[in-house]
Amino acid sequence: MARTMESTNDKRIFIVGAGVSGLVAARVLENHGYSPTIFEAGDRVGGRVKTDIVEGYQLDHGFQVMLDAYPMAQEYLNYDKLDLQKLIPGAILFNNGKRRALGDPTRELSMAVPTMLSSIGSFSDKLKVLKLNFKLRKKSLDAIFTSEEKTTLQYLQDYGFSQGMINGFFKPFFTGIYLEDQLQTSSRMFEFVFKMFGEGSAVIPRAGIEAIPLQLQERLTQTNFSFNTRVKQVTQNTVILEDGTEHHSLGTIIATEAGDLVSNLSQQQLSWKSVDNLYFEFKGSAVYHKPIIGLFNAENTLVNNIHYVTNIANEYEGRNGLLSVSVVKEHQLSEEDLIKHVQNELKQHAKITNTRFLKRYTIKKALPNLDNLRYEMAPTETQLTTGIFLAGDQQLNGSLNAAMMAGERAALGLIQTLEGGVIS
Ligand SMILES: Cc1cc2nc3c(=O)[nH]c(=O)nc-3n(C[C@H](O)[C@H](O)[C@H](O)COP(=O)(O)OP(=O)(O)OC[C@H]3O[C@@H](n4cnc5c(N)ncnc54)[C@H](O)[C@@H]3O)c2cc1C
Repeated sequence: MARTMESTNDKRIFIVGAGVSGLVAARVLENHGYSPTIFEAGDRVGGRVKTDIVEGYQLDHGFQVMLDAYPMAQEYLNYDKLDLQKLIPGAILFNNGKRRALGDPTRELSMAVPTMLSSIGSFSDKLKVLKLNFKLRKKSLDAIFTSEEKTTLQYLQDYGFSQGMINGFFKPFFTGIYLEDQLQTSSRMFEFVFKMFGEGSAVIPRAGIEAIPLQLQERLTQTNFSFNTRVKQVTQNTVILEDGTEHHSLGTIIATEAGDLVSNLSQQQLSWKSVDNLYFEFKGSAVYHKPIIGLFNAENTLVNNIHYVTNIANEYEGRNGLLSVSVVKEHQLSEEDLIKHVQNELKQHAKITNTRFLKRYTIKKALPNLDNLRYEMAPTETQLTTGIFLAGDQQLNGSLNAAMMAGERAALGLIQTLEGGVIS
């Protein structure tokens, strides 16, 4: 059907949520000539992808990386402008004052000797890592997301990895990614993440993780943003705001949890995985200097991973260092006790002393707990009911790639119903 400027410029197309998914949905709508309005409950774009400046330090809301091999990120982001900082593939593992390095020697030569000498995992485990890498490079994303699902733990055991390798490396490494410490997350996610790590690098923009949604926002020229605006309800042809204002709509994309917004979905509440992220300033030298993640692999530590943050705001001369610490295990500690506990573990396991607590982010809804993980969905599948389309990572899997994919597909689904025919 022919589109006129009048119909495509119609402002009665709404998106709920200015996270990465909502922003990509807006991008696709703009690409097709529409001018959507985004209602965002918060004061800025980003959703779960935010960075604060605190005492001059740049603090991401939770340690988070992007994998530059994500196909959707390659499509929607300009990597050069993000000034991406690469992390070395692998990790430094800390356990009661001892430290070992494990990495991919085929990618980072400096990791070859420590990896081979590391007492974590047998020689056969290390060969299996290389074999798995090779296998997953050849396996398509489609094949990964249609494979039989089992837990990651089962997958690793079935692949023949030793208990030492699983507990010493895979558990701490994937706990930090899945935000659960039993490796119960689907093997599809394991294969997806492993493949993405194998084909590219884990990266963080130099200006902090929020640079990603900010770049998506910057490139939107026809989208209208309404911040500090919480949506209360979405129906077939209205969006009702918390203050009671009603907007007549031609179509709405819900790029967040839809359970509370659409009446017949109220029973479908998602469960979420959470994380505590603490930042410390430290004096003196870091205990390691390479851009690589640090993992704690002693049993029962609260600390899962540490990361020495280097980025724009922290690079000023004379500044103390900045350390990010993630706690995934559930705990009932008060903030004061948690800080003490974490500082003790830093000292005991990694010999990190002289830390001053800066800030804590408790992110209750960090990653959706999902079964039947998917890589993508057809635009038509995003339609919940007439006029309402669903986006957000929870439609597919908990990742930036999925958030972008779901946003794209929901926008295409909406456009398709407005215009008829198949839109690519
Ligand atoms: C600590 C942490 C670590 C992570 N690590 C990684 C990682 O390493 N790699 C990776 O790929 N992914 C990671 N993720 C996941 C990734 O951040 C998410 O998949 C992605 O940001 C989800 O984007 P979204 O737009 O779907 O949802 P959100 O970012 O949650 O956006 C939803 C938006 O909707 C708004 N909203 C909600 N309700 C309403 C309402 N009623 N009215 C108006 N607005 C509303 C919210 O304020 C929010 O801005 C991590 C996430 C966290 C929190």
